[in-house]
Amino acid sequence: TPYQPAATRYSDMTYNRCGASGLKLPAVSLGTWHNFGDHNPYEQMKQLLFTAFDNGITHFDLANNYGPEPGAAEKNVGRILKEYFAAHRDELIISTKAGYEMWAGPYGDLGSRKYLLASLDQSLKRLGLEYVDIFYHHRPDPETPLEETMGALAQAVRSGKALYVGLSNYDGPTMEKAAAILDELHVPFVINQNKYNILDRTVERNGLKETANRIGKGLITFCPLAQGLLTDRYLNGVPADSRIAADGRFLHRSDLTDARVEQIRELNAIAADRGQTLAEMALAWLLHDGKVTSVLIGASKPQQILDNIGALKNTAFSDDELKRIDEIAAR
Ligand code: NDP
Repeated sequence: TPYQPAATRYSDMTYNRCGASGLKLPAVSLGTWHNFGDHNPYEQMKQLLFTAFDNGITHFDLANNYGPEPGAAEKNVGRILKEYFAAHRDELIISTKAGYEMWAGPYGDLGSRKYLLASLDQSLKRLGLEYVDIFYHHRPDPETPLEETMGALAQAVRSGKALYVGLSNYDGPTMEKAAAILDELHVPFVINQNKYNILDRTVERNGLKETANRIGKGLITFCPLAQGLLTDRYLNGVPADSRIAADGRFLHRSDLTDARVEQIRELNAIAADRGQTLAEMALAWLLHDGKVTSVLIGASKPQQILDNIGALKNTAFSDDELKRIDEIAAR
């Protein structure tokens, strides 16, 4: 049966301008790092994308290596796009990346021109698309000249295989150097993708957040819920269907120390005082100062997407709330 997206899909979502560019992104975007591998049921992946799009989430984020197996997320999402979203391609922002290990040998990793351009061609094949909207360098490569990596991103745009480019996991000073090169090449570099959440303030310390805002680049934040720690998931143990129990590749039982659980409970109490779930407060916190373009969530169930969009109902914090959150996070 054909998929008929909700007619109301644009009525409630907030769209934020990506830096000083012409591109707007939904305040909540959906990532496919988890839950889109070959072991995940096709029906569930479909329902996640349908629920997102029905509620104004126009941006799906991928990478060459998302799976398992690497490439599986692009292949699975590509199939769903072809079967159900063909009439809506121009309503969607599809991103992918290269920068982590993807294939064996010296040309399947890091930041060479050889790797990036070959990988983008592979991604387009798996996705079944002629172009992606955003192509990212996934992480800085200290051993490849920045000029070479940025030149490859420029080529991706010139060849029509990407509309915009992004950088992921760069720090402020490196990103500013890269931006200068991309400016010279007239490449539409519009967005940074970095980890940022109440418990991880790296982008506040390494200059990325300040620089992105100063030079007019967008910022989309990954792991905004700390992979689920900043939700009600782990308040009382480890549920069998949670990421820790069901997919322990990147989040482990050992991450759930007594001190961590105590922090989560105290943050949960602040959220409750605000009339929000912890997940809603964690996302609202990222959006409260207007310096984050979009929060890039993951979801294992459609209902989580709906719950997370609820964050947009209240993104204002009192100074006292911000101070208490900082104090708990700093422990
Ligand atoms: P989150 O921090 O949003 O964690 C998502 C997980 O939290 C879900 O899979 C689910 O886990 C749980 N969850 C989500 N919403 C709720 C809710 N309302 N209530 C309870 N539990 C909830 O982000 P991810 O770690 O998934 O990362 C998001 C995206 O960021 C990725 O898909 C990817 O696109 C991108 N990313 C980019 C990286 C980069 O280097 N550029 C690195 C990592 C991610 P559960 O299984 O327990 O239900």
